[in-house]
Amino acid sequence: MSGPVSGTGPARLLVELRPERCTACGCCLVTCPTRALRAGPGRPALPRLLADRCTGCLACVEVCPRDALAPVPADPGADLEVPA
Ligand code: SF4
Ligand code: SF4
Repeated sequence: MSGPVSGTGPARLLVELRPERCTACGCCLVTCPTRALRAGPGRPALPRLLADRCTGCLACVEVCPRDALAPVPADPGADLEVPA
């Protein structure tokens, strides 16, 4: 990841949680540069995405030790190649 980040621009990618893989460790929450991930309600407090703050930087995907976050196109109708 390089360059400035902000939560204001339209993201080409967002992230999706695979809840069955998540241990609610919180690593992604503290890594996200725009605080787009917040601990959700309930226990365990799985992360939830505030999509309007997400820049699609994928830092959370990289840091997750459980491969529980996956990139998804911000616009499902867009013809966009999503990294595996
Ligand atoms: S880093 Fe991965 S396992 Fe940990 S809370 Fe985030 S999604 Fe869940
Ligand atoms: S891709 Fe992940 S780390 Fe990057 S802004 Fe979105 S939620 Fe935060």
